[in-house]
Amino acid sequence: MKPFHPTPKTLMGPGPSDVPARILEAMARPTVGHLDPQFITLMDEIKTLLRFAFQTENALTFPVSAPGSAGMETCFVNLIEPGDTVVVCVNGVFGGRMVENVTRAGATAVVISDDWGKPVDPQKVEDTLKAHPEAKILAFVHAETSTGVLSDAKVLCTLAREHDCLTIVDAVTSLGGVPVKVDEWGVDAIYSGTQKCLSVPPGLSPISFGPRAIAAIEARVTPVQSWFLDLSLVMNYWEGPRSNSDSGSAKKSGRSYHHTAPINAMYALHEGLLMLHEEGLEAAFARHQTQHEALREGLEALGFSFLVEPDYRLPQLNTVCIPERVTDEAAIRKNLLEKHDLEIGAGLGALAGKVWRIGLMGASACPANVEQCLGALKQELG
Ligand SMILES: *Cc1c(COP(=O)(O)O)cnc(C)c1O
Repeated sequence: MKPFHPTPKTLMGPGPSDVPARILEAMARPTVGHLDPQFITLMDEIKTLLRFAFQTENALTFPVSAPGSAGMETCFVNLIEPGDTVVVCVNGVFGGRMVENVTRAGATAVVISDDWGKPVDPQKVEDTLKAHPEAKILAFVHAETSTGVLSDAKVLCTLAREHDCLTIVDAVTSLGGVPVKVDEWGVDAIYSGTQKCLSVPPGLSPISFGPRAIAAIEARVTPVQSWFLDLSLVMNYWEGPRSNSDSGSAKKSGRSYHHTAPINAMYALHEGLLMLHEEGLEAAFARHQTQHEALREGLEALGFSFLVEPDYRLPQLNTVCIPERVTDEAAIRKNLLEKHDLEIGAGLGALAGKVWRIGLMGASACPANVEQCLGALKQELG
């Protein structure tokens, strides 16, 4: 066996996205201890940069040391106690996973289903919240990566608040690609991932919890079922000890070991967030939109149609219906990967074999990628 040197690929699937050399170089810097003062400084900067990305002042904002699914689980296990009722909106794969989290945490899931390819319907949410005054939480996916649909997080969070429900929002694919306004929308708990629109390698999950969510955690009568994801324990590492009577104070007396943070992965996240900060949020959103429009024009010229209506179409995840003349879509994806070094995503579930998912996430949202993708598809479709 020899050291592993993969052939570089252009990543235009549903994640991971292309990782800029600058971020890979940051990862190769010397590993230091997880309680080294230099590393504590880095952790503080990561929290500040994540507050910028999430557009929030929430003190409890940091990356969980595991991929997006662990951020999802962190939100559910910390906010749910056995016997709770949680309203979950399902319009694709990831909403389905939320239901799984709810039932495994011992709560009852009230499921609101919308068609794959459609956003969450606020009217159904309002009706369901009215019919279930016992509901404690409303959970939904902001950007459904399985279909390419954006739901209206602002409207859904307002409805939740009117019905005295906390919100859990999946922003794994939205963060960095489209606006995510945690404070303005009144989101209570939110999680994201690094390998989508932040263009950082997979393995970390940024989360943010607001004051109402923290109050719910402090009012728990049962311990969180997961030791690793129990925020009351992890916080001692990311924030230093908090005293219960004065949880808002900045009183810090050193941090204690909880787990060994993935040090070099944190270097990468810091660098990726720095790049987003240098570019600016609005510029990053505009770049995703511009590249999406260029790709859309080219794909439509090649005979593709979009699954999702323009009003709620994600710029960073383009779900296109495969033209009738294509008889073996898997063979084309294989050729793209092997002959053109280009990865695109297959359809999931009921959409398998019917659609492709073409990602323009983070650094992948650039003119060179759009051109490469359109050129390769033209060749392969003949
Ligand atoms: C990718 C994704 C996840 C899961 O993230 P992992 O890092 O793969 O665990 C969750 N929700 C959405 C919407 C995603 O796109």
